[in-house]
Amino acid sequence: MLNKKTIEDIDVQNKRVLVRCDFNVPLNEAGEITDDKRIRESLPTIKYLLSKGAKVILCSHMGRPKGEFNMKYSLAPVAKRLSELLGFEVKLAKDVIGPSAKELAASCESGKAVLIENVRFHKEEEKNDPAFAKELASLAEVYVNDAFGTSHRAHASTAGVADYLPAVCGYLIQKEIDVMGKALADPKRPFVAILGGAKVSDKIGVIVNLIGKVDTLIIGGAMAYTFAKAQGGKTGISRVEEDKVDLARDILAKAKAAGVKLLLPVDTACAKEFDANAEITVCEENNIADDLMGLDIGPKTVDLFCEAIKNAGTVVWNGPMGVFEFPRFAVGTKAVAKAVAESDAISIIGGGDSAAAVEQLGYADKMTHISTGGGASLEFLEGKELPGIMALNDK
Ligand code: AMP
Repeated sequence: MLNKKTIEDIDVQNKRVLVRCDFNVPLNEAGEITDDKRIRESLPTIKYLLSKGAKVILCSHMGRPKGEFNMKYSLAPVAKRLSELLGFEVKLAKDVIGPSAKELAASCESGKAVLIENVRFHKEEEKNDPAFAKELASLAEVYVNDAFGTSHRAHASTAGVADYLPAVCGYLIQKEIDVMGKALADPKRPFVAILGGAKVSDKIGVIVNLIGKVDTLIIGGAMAYTFAKAQGGKTGISRVEEDKVDLARDILAKAKAAGVKLLLPVDTACAKEFDANAEITVCEENNIADDLMGLDIGPKTVDLFCEAIKNAGTVVWNGPMGVFEFPRFAVGTKAVAKAVAESDAISIIGGGDSAAAVEQLGYADKMTHISTGGGASLEFLEGKELPGIMALNDK
């Protein structure tokens, strides 16, 4: 499916291999990793390279240090966790392209791995500065990109460096693109897309791209109120993007013309204020009282959406059905997660909030694929080319 070279297409024995991972893990106040999923996700690629006798030089960004050395964003906790997971000490350089990184890279033994500091300690990283990319490249003889979560960014360590080295992808990127690419190109039908979340503007590209491909498009979350408005409905004090109402009307027409079944909420769980403990009033479709705001899909909508999901061949889901951070308004999101988990469909969960919801609810192992990149998977579903993948060598 993916027409880019992978780590299996290139000889890495005794070679210094620069591997761009996404080690941007969440830390607590004490600087401890609270979820090491991203580190564990990168292990198949790292272990494969080690087993082939490569000298592995790992790099990543962490947080937003704004182009300056700031030890709050040091990869030290990552080096520690990697050492535990790999069973040998993964040394951390004091810098990114400086003397420490150069020395560590040069002295790395075959079958061992080292880590250089946060690539975003240099402002040139996010600017994709060629001189900086060249310096990074000089640490190694081969480049591997496995940071799917940042592959939608054209940065020096995700794209620029590929100008100076043979460049291939790792297993994580390969898996992401293969699973999502197949779903888009040759889906098992019916193909159902579920889109939710806060803003139409964030998801518009995906909606437009999916209209030509899916059989059913389900829209929940705050986005639905902009569509309700476009149909002349009453939305009370719900979150509506006034400047996107025309666009929503356009999408309704496009979906109709394409013969796509567009499912919008038929009822809404509302409240007087944006509050976790607010009292719930269920309003009918397009008829939210003036003093109420929609915060979740209503019970009839839950049934409607879940019925469509039950019979799906392929499901792609991105964005919660309501303010799922408030347990009272997480009912719709939970029901959808359960329906997707229990269906026989090939299920693909876009990263971000929907991935978090699925994991919190314990359905992760029931899904075919949970993307490791929220923004990157959205852009992929929009049909955009991801610079971090485009930069790699063709097969
Ligand atoms: P996104 O990042 O676009 O996927 O949006 C996720 C956010 O949308 C979550 O923080 C939800 O709380 C929010 N959201 C979903 N439904 C609603 C709603 N009905 N009103 C306000 N915010 C919502």
